[in-house]
Amino acid sequence: MENFKIDVDGDGIALITFDVPGRTMNTLTAAVIKEIGEIAETLKSDANIKGAVITSGKTTGFCAGADLGELGGGALGGGGGAPAGEEGLKAAFEAGFALNKAFRAIETCGKPVAAAINGLAMGGGLEITLACHYRVVADNPKIQLALPEAKVGLLPGAGGTQRLPRLIGVMAAAPYLLEGKSMKPAEALALKVVHEVAPADQVVEAAKTWVKTKGDPVALWDKKDFKIPGGGPYTASGSQVFVMGNAMLRKQTYGNYPAQLNIMKAVYEGLQVPFDAALRIETRYFLKTLMSPQAKGMIRTLFLSLQELGKGSGRPAGVPHYDVKKVSVLGAGMMGAGIAYVQAMAGIETVLIDQSQEAADKGKGYAEGLVKKAVSRGKLTAEKGEAILALIHPTADYANVKGSDLVVEAVFENRDVKAAVTKLAEAQLADTAVFGSNTSTLPITGLAEASIRPESFIGIHFFSPVDKMGLVEIILGDKTDQATIAKSIDYVLKIKKTPIVVNDSRGFYTSRCFGTFVQEGMELLADGYAPAIIDNVGRATGMPRGPLEMHDDVALDLSYKIAQQTKKDLGDKYEERPFTTIIEKMVEGEGRYGRKNGKGFYDYPENGPKVLWKGLADLAPVKIDSVDKAGIEEIRTRLLYRQAVEAARCFEEGVITDPREADVGAILGWGFAPWTGGPVSLIDGIGVAKFVEACDALAQKYGSRFAPPQLLRDMAAKGETFYSRFGVKEKAAA
Ligand code: NAD
Repeated sequence: MENFKIDVDGDGIALITFDVPGRTMNTLTAAVIKEIGEIAETLKSDANIKGAVITSGKTTGFCAGADLGELGGGALGGGGGAPAGEEGLKAAFEAGFALNKAFRAIETCGKPVAAAINGLAMGGGLEITLACHYRVVADNPKIQLALPEAKVGLLPGAGGTQRLPRLIGVMAAAPYLLEGKSMKPAEALALKVVHEVAPADQVVEAAKTWVKTKGDPVALWDKKDFKIPGGGPYTASGSQVFVMGNAMLRKQTYGNYPAQLNIMKAVYEGLQVPFDAALRIETRYFLKTLMSPQAKGMIRTLFLSLQELGKGSGRPAGVPHYDVKKVSVLGAGMMGAGIAYVQAMAGIETVLIDQSQEAADKGKGYAEGLVKKAVSRGKLTAEKGEAILALIHPTADYANVKGSDLVVEAVFENRDVKAAVTKLAEAQLADTAVFGSNTSTLPITGLAEASIRPESFIGIHFFSPVDKMGLVEIILGDKTDQATIAKSIDYVLKIKKTPIVVNDSRGFYTSRCFGTFVQEGMELLADGYAPAIIDNVGRATGMPRGPLEMHDDVALDLSYKIAQQTKKDLGDKYEERPFTTIIEKMVEGEGRYGRKNGKGFYDYPENGPKVLWKGLADLAPVKIDSVDKAGIEEIRTRLLYRQAVEAARCFEEGVITDPREADVGAILGWGFAPWTGGPVSLIDGIGVAKFVEACDALAQKYGSRFAPPQLLRDMAAKGETFYSRFGVKEKAAA
């Protein structure tokens, strides 16, 4: 066997070591699955073997689960249309059932089998251990045990939906199945997912001891007197769980995620039949989920593309790795303070500059607060916390910039202030250093005019709150050179964020597309829709919040200021919209700036949830206060397609060039409905021709903001998708 080693000891216990050659981590490939079947056969037929222990030969973990790259592109026809005809479906079922069959063969081999889990076990990696009769896990809080499939739109299809609820009950299993929540060894022991926690170097011994002394070769669910903890769906208490679970699921997902729904169905139906039939039910739901466009988009964007961008796939080749050791952050306000914190966490020496020592100290205070919290929660030791904070040097003196490999400018959003600090910092910088601006709206090429080295000037756009948001948008000015791009990507990867690279444009990529969501919310308001309808349907699209709520979050005065500036810059080309007066009256007349001053579309009482502002009805009279299903669909389409068509325009204008970056950037940057896989996957999933047709109809009804760009018409004529046209191999497609 290529991926496993079997050593039988003097007691007849086979130690099966999982160790895929040439890989740092074990995954379940077709070859591995085939060998697991062979192992089961050996265990069953070899009379010298009395029992077995499965462990991993890798120091990195036990097993990371199915190879999603192979799964998406493999025989299962991942995503898109189902395989042709009944024969195709049968073949897909057999391929999908292979893991279940192999694991079940281990479980029913007639000899006791224990898992010695000496590292992370995810997805299929955890499911194989659930098919063992006993589980020992190493006593290491860094070990994660999880079934994360639902996070990428999939269903745990190697027995997870059947074994976990039978082991710990439906209620306890739900968050692990539906949300992909992970557990540490202590939690797994408390939940009875594992039987024993042992010191790392003794897991194999402990597993062998069980096999030798107590080894029971029959799984709980194969015993005659087996009862599902908490009761199955056919009991009074068990059925309650499903009634409540369904309602909660609907509330959280609005029916956007087939994976969660199918997991519920697989559990509900599977728990009512004998175990072997249950596994077949699971495989059917697994395939149904895998073939949905949602799974295709989510696997590609939230797993494959995220992983590729996380390795710097957009980095220009040929530039040596740039190890960023010291970085100066100009401006210790909300953004600067957050940037200083993430840098220190990544071990980067950080000079944090503001106009006064006091202001700089205040900025460091933000990191102090976060570190203190982490120490009090036991996530950091006090010493480590001290060491992290010692890396941040607050100061008002630009002389300290000297020796910095990179600068991040995060002072006020004002061209003159930015120009002044650019000059002060550059006076201290070596030729090789990068100057990055965290501006959210000002074009980089214009800001670079203040620089004496515009080729090393770039936009490094963070999102708020910096410590939570995973994306950084890198923006190229006209003169930015390749080395600066590469160095900036190296910096972003070092602080453990995902970079996307875009060209200069008003609002760049993320703010520009996100802005259309907020604006369409305003259009709906001006059309007379009741605000509650707008935000409720907005949330039901899968966006994190409705457009009015999000508008309050980003600040109404800011959006008003940006609109004023855009109007000034665009002159005749600026299209005045009916909603402009609503915002103007709210900001200028009513002093309603949004969440930040507790007054926006909503009021934010100190002790209680926000409530819609009553006065809004005077500025935007309600004409439509109820909508039917078709009406909801219309609003939903307007909110999602408006953003998607803007993303398409960004491609046409060359603002963004890589569909992976467009999709990952959208979900990580502004929370674009994750079930779609991103705006580009949404268009590809609908079909470009169909999308163009829908946008033409919307444009007729609502105006040119929906008009599809020529690029989309060309693509429709040629039958192209974004992923096929823009040169990135469609990895998750058949
Ligand atoms: P902020 O007002 O909280 O902080 C700006 C800081 O810059 C203040 O502490 C100020 O004292 C300091 N400053 C001003 N002039 C200075 C000078 N000459 N030298 C040193 N320090 C000086 O603003 P913020 O929200 O942190 O935004 C900073 C930048 O980041 C802006 O360009 C903004 O557009 C951008 N940005 C903001 C967000 C956001 O969500 N707030 C997101 C992305 C980017």
